[in-house]
Amino acid sequence: MLITDDFLKHNSQFALIAGPCSLESEEQLGQFIDQSSGIETVRAGLFKMRTNPKSFQGLGADGVQIISKLKEQSNFEFITEVTDPRQLELIDPIVDIYQVGSRNMYNYELLRELNRLGKPVLFKRAFSATVSEWINACGYMPDLGEEKIILCERGIRTFEPSTRNTLDINSVIYIKQNYNFKVVVDPSHACGNVDMIKQLCFVSMAAGADGLLIESHPNPAEALSDKDQQITPTHLNQIRSELIKLAPFFDKQII
Ligand code: PEP
Ligand code: MN
Repeated sequence: MLITDDFLKHNSQFALIAGPCSLESEEQLGQFIDQSSGIETVRAGLFKMRTNPKSFQGLGADGVQIISKLKEQSNFEFITEVTDPRQLELIDPIVDIYQVGSRNMYNYELLRELNRLGKPVLFKRAFSATVSEWINACGYMPDLGEEKIILCERGIRTFEPSTRNTLDINSVIYIKQNYNFKVVVDPSHACGNVDMIKQLCFVSMAAGADGLLIESHPNPAEALSDKDQQITPTHLNQIRSELIKLAPFFDKQII
């Protein structure tokens, strides 16, 4: 079941969204799609907000053709990050869900533009934003509201350096208790390493999250961004099978 058809209208569904950090080639994303099972909402970044300007910036406009071609071959929804309103015209034909990244939570002009477009938005928390600032920023997308904004907890910056960020699981519980937004967890950016992903997925389901956004690459060692935190499709399939077993305990159904 696809997120835009079903997930946004029901409370018991648990969405698994996965794919590479960045789109690198048709072959790379094609392999991910072939090797992963049951992932109907595929992520891959076209425009990357890298901390170091010399790092790989994404394929940008060149990625649009690749996604259109892959979409003709397999049925999936595509989610990608938009970093500037000027990209919207170019990418809108291939995008089903827009991702707003942590570094753009406060980009209110971008949020206003997405509100105007009307497609669902996966809205990441800025790494130093309070929950209240995050929820307030949703107010810039009033027409999307709780029905079309999917909040994404991706870890916050704390004094703890042993992992990339610290997953604020409290925020997931707090938001589910106080609002009607869907909340998904991104364990990949929250911890930054492949060895903790499975546990964070379990914890997120137990906390009442509505889904997960997981980075997965067919060949993580060769990835052009975030290579330490991308799991293989085989690893992803294992986590998915375990989540399918856990889901009934939490009144959830994996989509
Ligand atoms: C991403 O999802 O690839 C990403 C850059 O995440 P974030 O905005 O949470 O850092
Ligand atoms: Mn990434």
